[in-house]
Amino acid sequence: MYPDDGSWTSALTHLECGRCAERYDADEPQNVCRCGSPLLARYDLDRVRSAVRPADVASRGTDLWRYRELLPVRDPGKVVTLGEGMTPIVPLPEYGRRVGVPSLLAKDEGLLPTGSFKARGAAVGVSRAHELGVGRLTLPTNGNAGAAWATYAARAGMDCLVVMPRDAPWVTRKECLASGARVYMVDGLIGDAGRIAGQAVQDGWFSAATLREPYRIEGKKTMGLEIAEQFGWRVPDVVVYPTGGGVGLIGIRKALDELAALGWIAGRLPRFVAVQSTGCAPIVRAFESGAETAQPWPADQARTVAFGINVASALGDFLILSALRDSKGTAVAVDDQEILEEQLACAASDGVLMCPEGAATLAAVRRLRAEGWLEGNEEVLVLNTGSALKYADSLRVADPPELARDADLPAEAAL
Ligand SMILES: *Cc1c(COP(=O)(O)O)cnc(C)c1O
Ligand SMILES: [Zn+2]
Repeated sequence: MYPDDGSWTSALTHLECGRCAERYDADEPQNVCRCGSPLLARYDLDRVRSAVRPADVASRGTDLWRYRELLPVRDPGKVVTLGEGMTPIVPLPEYGRRVGVPSLLAKDEGLLPTGSFKARGAAVGVSRAHELGVGRLTLPTNGNAGAAWATYAARAGMDCLVVMPRDAPWVTRKECLASGARVYMVDGLIGDAGRIAGQAVQDGWFSAATLREPYRIEGKKTMGLEIAEQFGWRVPDVVVYPTGGGVGLIGIRKALDELAALGWIAGRLPRFVAVQSTGCAPIVRAFESGAETAQPWPADQARTVAFGINVASALGDFLILSALRDSKGTAVAVDDQEILEEQLACAASDGVLMCPEGAATLAAVRRLRAEGWLEGNEEVLVLNTGSALKYADSLRVADPPELARDADLPAEAAL
């Protein structure tokens, strides 16, 4: 918990619809706009510019609350934190050399509490809900969001009700249960889980579903703030992101727009690449057809080992697609075979074992370099959004030979 020594300020002013720009009071619990679109937090950036400089931020603690002026929590006593934030940016020199992008880097979000970057959204979302007096929240999840929100809700003393597809990684289900959440499994996709969680909302539970609650994106935005700070207040040429609901991509773009408005970075955005699975690629299909919104992927066909990006329909589709176009980026679909191969290739070459979603970005980098969309001298940052250990079952490694207790080490082992 943060003490209130009077130095804490949030410059939050109001919420604004991402589609129709209608304004909403930020100091009441809110969900989506009347028009059905996500609400985005807006800040008094003039006030931030005069109150704080990058050097001030550098002298603060390394959790994501170092960016408190650009976050929505007004009372430091309401901050619910497990030390989340400032994940390392790890060069991948050997893998990068092999695919022809020597300046390849990964931001490793697998090191966060609960083992995925969902901790960022949950830390800020739960803190703000707690500050606004929400006592119980519900969300559908593909696993990692449920684990993160259940964990932070437990720390805040809030009730949490999670609905998840039966196929979601079992580790995440256990995490939810261990932190005392009510958990229901559904034989279906996250969209089906969302309809069921919606019934709890009718009964007075607050919806913390992706982009139906305005502050999860503020937490994920801190990835973009950190990237800029870790690069010395500039941005890489390209950012490659495994895209499900797209909150992280929209959040990173929002962060960089805010920093540009503050004058903390130069205006040019990195080219954003949204990576999806060929088993569920509504954003890629929409991008390729030039559409401004995405058609839902047929639910009976949505399937991939990269469970966190198995999202057939994204509420923020138009925001993802505009981030790709505005930045001259692109969208790429990769298959499970490629994902599992690149996952092991990177682990063996550079010691970074990514989750399947993270490994999907590697497959995209290899493809985009081969096609010439990426140039060999570009600085390319991929997001590893979670820990591979959550998906240990899907690692394609062979069982090692078994030896009898008194056996000698086989001769070939010593060669
Ligand atoms: C949720 C999730 C994603 C997709 O995140 P969005 O920001 O909603 O697109 C990617 N990777 C992992 C590991 C996830 O849990
Ligand atoms: Zn609206």
